[in-house]
Amino acid sequence: MKILFVASEAFPLVKTGGLGDVVYSLPHALAARGADIRLLLPGYRALLRQLGEVRILGWLDVRGAEGMVSARVLETRHPGFTFPLWVVDCPPLFDRPGNPYVNASGQDWPDNAERFAVFARVAAQLGLDALGLGWQADVAHAHDWQTGLVAAFLADAPIRPKSVFTIHNLAYGGYFSHSDFVRLQLPSHWWSPEGVEFHGGFSMLKAGIVYADAVTTVSPTYAREICTPEYGYGLDGLLLSRQYKLTGILNGIDTSIWNPATDAHLPAHYSASRINPGKRRNKQALLARFLGSVDDEALRAPLCGLVGRLVEQKGIDWILAALPGLLAETDARFVLLGSGQAIFEQKLLRLARQHPDRVFVEIGYDEALAHLIEAGSDIFLMPSRFEPCGLNQMYSLAYGTPPVVYKTGGLADTVVDTNEATLADATANGFVFDTPTVDAFAEAVRRALAAYRQPAVWRRVQQTGMARVFDWNESAGHYLSLYSM
Ligand code: ADP
Repeated sequence: MKILFVASEAFPLVKTGGLGDVVYSLPHALAARGADIRLLLPGYRALLRQLGEVRILGWLDVRGAEGMVSARVLETRHPGFTFPLWVVDCPPLFDRPGNPYVNASGQDWPDNAERFAVFARVAAQLGLDALGLGWQADVAHAHDWQTGLVAAFLADAPIRPKSVFTIHNLAYGGYFSHSDFVRLQLPSHWWSPEGVEFHGGFSMLKAGIVYADAVTTVSPTYAREICTPEYGYGLDGLLLSRQYKLTGILNGIDTSIWNPATDAHLPAHYSASRINPGKRRNKQALLARFLGSVDDEALRAPLCGLVGRLVEQKGIDWILAALPGLLAETDARFVLLGSGQAIFEQKLLRLARQHPDRVFVEIGYDEALAHLIEAGSDIFLMPSRFEPCGLNQMYSLAYGTPPVVYKTGGLADTVVDTNEATLADATANGFVFDTPTVDAFAEAVRRALAAYRQPAVWRRVQQTGMARVFDWNESAGHYLSLYSM
């Protein structure tokens, strides 16, 4: 089966969040099961610089905002990928510094509508083998709003690959104005509430939902949640009406990268049968990074870690509100890595200045430190208000760092609260709160801290988490059956 994967980021070339991880791991899992994959990415400056030898497959002229735009399609083999990468090289749109979606001051690139409309047009053309490469895709699988138009462009073709669209986060809708729609000369029959129109403008995410043959999202619970007004961002009615083609398939984690027994970023390795000595050395290294010298007291005290985008979705405001109380009542330490909204960054840094021995904050994006936090912390905090799937809680389970999570989306599908019943049937692997409040979050952290003080209970919770395999192979099987339906 030939599958054209179309996405706006892929680890390790360009990654801003979980999407990048999935776009790396899923096609590899599919390739391992025999699928013939091409992964199409935009030629961002930072991405092009990481490519070795490239072959020009051809040029495609497609409509942009001001007339035609010429895109060069490159093919390259990258040591990180077992299949060929295709890259849309279009310097006016992608050859610029910084983030794929926002400029240095965090503002969306003003021409995002054109950037991703052009990318989608090229993707659809390649899906139809417009360059005559003799590689006709059976499936075009696109991801998130940046590629939502791929299915829409394909829908108009008489003979075409099956289109699959995956929603990794419904909160990002790719909303643009009517004048963008006109300037980009998008087909006028798309402009209706049954098409891409959304409250006077249009949504590229909606295009994916409307026009794809199959829509998936990244956990079964999130697939149900997005059909409700609470989680639907105004698209719940549409999603409810398309439930017949909507499936929730849980992401996996890439255990060649996220495995405490082999992780290249860790000073010490460990596994479920012998957790403590290795975990302790990682904790020491993690604390030393912030404290210089680490005494026994600091090593003994529970360390709560967080890695993630510092945005409201991730419950950072709950953390900020709960921390002063938890610092006063308990001996817990906190280590937090992330970047995002300036207000959260500033507040976290202020808290770290107020408690230099107990609150450690690193603002930025640091892959190595993320691994060390997963391994060196005792408890992982992930109180997301909503979470399509979430990878960090799965990493933390694999690293023997039980997570504290709100019962939503993929968190609800992967974390089992610790109580008498779940300890008895050996399913307890973390701490779950089911009311979206600061108090409920703080209470769950207190329960986790209490369990940490009971070594036998703690070891059982850790081992249950480490034993659960979030296997990409299984998810890949679900996608393959969907592709063949
Ligand atoms: P989301 O996709 O909503 O950001 P996920 O939990 O699904 O959340 O995935 C986040 C991914 O990004 C994980 O691989 C996580 O380790 C990584 N990540 C997020 N923020 C940072 C950061 N500041 N430094 C390093 N890695 C980060």
